[in-house]
Amino acid sequence: MSKSKKLGLNTICTHVGEVKDEQFKGAVSPIYLSSSYEYLDVEIKRYPRYFNTPNQEFLAKKIATLEHTEAAMIFGSGMAAISTMFLAFLKQGDHLVVQNTLYGGTVNFIKEEFPKYGIEYTFTNGYTVEDFEAVTQRNTKLIHIETPSNPLLTITDIAAIAKFGKSKGILTSMDNTFASPINQTPMDLGIDMVMHSATKYFGGHSDICAGAVASTTEHVERIWNVGKNLGGSLSDMTVWMLERSMKTLGLRVKAQTKNALKLAKWLHKHPKVSKVYYPGLKSHPEYALAKSQMRGFGAMLSFELVADLDAQQFQKSLQLIKSSMSLAGVESTVVSPHLTSHALLTQKERDAVGISDQLVRFSVGIEDVKDLKRDINQAIKNSK
Ligand SMILES: *Cc1c(COP(=O)(O)O)cnc(C)c1O
Repeated sequence: MSKSKKLGLNTICTHVGEVKDEQFKGAVSPIYLSSSYEYLDVEIKRYPRYFNTPNQEFLAKKIATLEHTEAAMIFGSGMAAISTMFLAFLKQGDHLVVQNTLYGGTVNFIKEEFPKYGIEYTFTNGYTVEDFEAVTQRNTKLIHIETPSNPLLTITDIAAIAKFGKSKGILTSMDNTFASPINQTPMDLGIDMVMHSATKYFGGHSDICAGAVASTTEHVERIWNVGKNLGGSLSDMTVWMLERSMKTLGLRVKAQTKNALKLAKWLHKHPKVSKVYYPGLKSHPEYALAKSQMRGFGAMLSFELVADLDAQQFQKSLQLIKSSMSLAGVESTVVSPHLTSHALLTQKERDAVGISDQLVRFSVGIEDVKDLKRDINQAIKNSK
């Protein structure tokens, strides 16, 4: 651990957590597809649903090393990771404090499932530490945050939330999907548990659905105890694909982050764009905070087209940039939050949280910036 911590990011991505091919000395990890392993006189009883096949166990080391934690676990989806984590630390009568700007699937899980378990929860009214303090109760056992948030890229003060949690003896968890450990490592700022939708940057090619949790060995063991009952493990075939994808995580995310900053600055000055939401712009209200807790500002941004443009026509007119529900692939994609993640809210509710019909969420890929600019400009011309 301490030795690998000194390795550079790209070296960790490429090498940490390889399964050595002792038999044939192949260059990459072999895939172990066995669903049955020897059980007599063995130290570890291996089974895919126990999250401990060779591929699962080794790839978890790469994720833990990237997140600066002792341990990690890989799941069948981001939701499997977050639901297992929540259920490992919350029981009947406990209370969760959760940020109001949150991934829609997490909101659904809390609202639809928590009442069945008798777990209480409160969404904050904002994302400052005071907003979290205001809704904390005597039975609060976990505080969960997401930063940068979807789709308006608000920034929560990670260190301040972690400090507040510690002062009250409350655990803190964070969804680090949007930044990825390339741009942000919440454990260094005191957060207790980090989770990911590995479907996004970890996979990076829009062809894998997976999740991960990283934390101390003690917390991960507790999550494991619930995880083996819920059964949300990932097949070794996909674990292997995820390992291959993660070798380029650093290269991809750095390139995407660089592109996003260039495009955000360009869009900010664009006469047909009325507003840009990107933590790397000096005009972003939490720019200084983002700069203090992130190594890079990430590759997600949102922007509003001026009122006389049709945002749907704009997306239909794009030729290179795809309209897509998900995000974080090497290809650039856009989506309308008011028709997708926030479609179930009323117009008034959307106005209240700042999701206008003109808003476009932009997941920036690795393409050449000049081609992306050209595509956006021609789509704007065709969306009157
Ligand atoms: C996609 C996503 C999730 C859920 O992950 P799945 O892999 O779709 O289950 C959770 N949090 C964030 C921020 C996401 O973008």
